Amino acid sequence: MKNKGILLVLSGPSGTGKGTIANKLIEDKDIVLSISATTRLPRDTEIDGKHYYFKSKDEFFNMLENNKLLEYAEYCGNYYGTPEENIDKWINEGKTVILEIETVGALKVKQKRPDAVLIFISPPSIEEQLRRLKNADTGVRNDIEKRIEKSREELKLADKYDYVVINDSLDRAVNEIKDIINKSKNTL
Ligand code: ADP
Ligand code: 5GP
Repeated sequence: MKNKGILLVLSGPSGTGKGTIANKLIEDKDIVLSISATTRLPRDTEIDGKHYYFKSKDEFFNMLENNKLLEYAEYCGNYYGTPEENIDKWINEGKTVILEIETVGALKVKQKRPDAVLIFISPPSIEEQLRRLKNADTGVRNDIEKRIEKSREELKLADKYDYVVINDSLDRAVNEIKDIINKSKNTL
């Protein structure tokens, strides 16, 4: 029988590279990325069911009331939540399941699932984070001030995580996370 996989939370401020790191990690067939539900409007490049499940507020709160979400949080005026449905199925199949979520939701996951491994992705500096945000999608660029303001609160939460990984060089950060995944699997 295959060993169980782990629940891995990647979290941290906007523009630190969480999405970029997650996309590199899922090149490994044993790693899957959970698709969140959100009430945010899709950006031009985003596809429903691939990047997010885009929901109306009513639909989102129906999911919540029907216990379909492992966690949820409000972020810059929109709601985001993790569908619980497939998580244990994937873990039992030996997959590492990545949740790419903000900090309030990440800490809720740890309360509900103490076995989850929480990684805080930190920018190498605020200047570099700002530079990355300015290069990001239009939807993000329109929201930069709110997102930087939010980062100040989020950075204070880093010490509540199991690991802090600095996303300086992408390959180095991805390799550090792969080492954490292997170490965590070996201590199950
Ligand atoms: P997040 O998901 O944390 O908001 P993204 O993954 O969208 O961040 O990355 C924000 C921007 O920073 C993107 O343009 C991405 O290409 C860039 N980026 C990510 N990681 C690095 C890195 N290690 N070095 C330089 N640029 C990076
Ligand atoms: P964005 O609008 O840039 O796609 O996402 C905004 C923030 O919401 C990011 O920090 C992202 O990680 C977070 N996020 C995405 N999905 C979820 C989720 O399911 N739950 C929580 N708590 N945060 C999420």
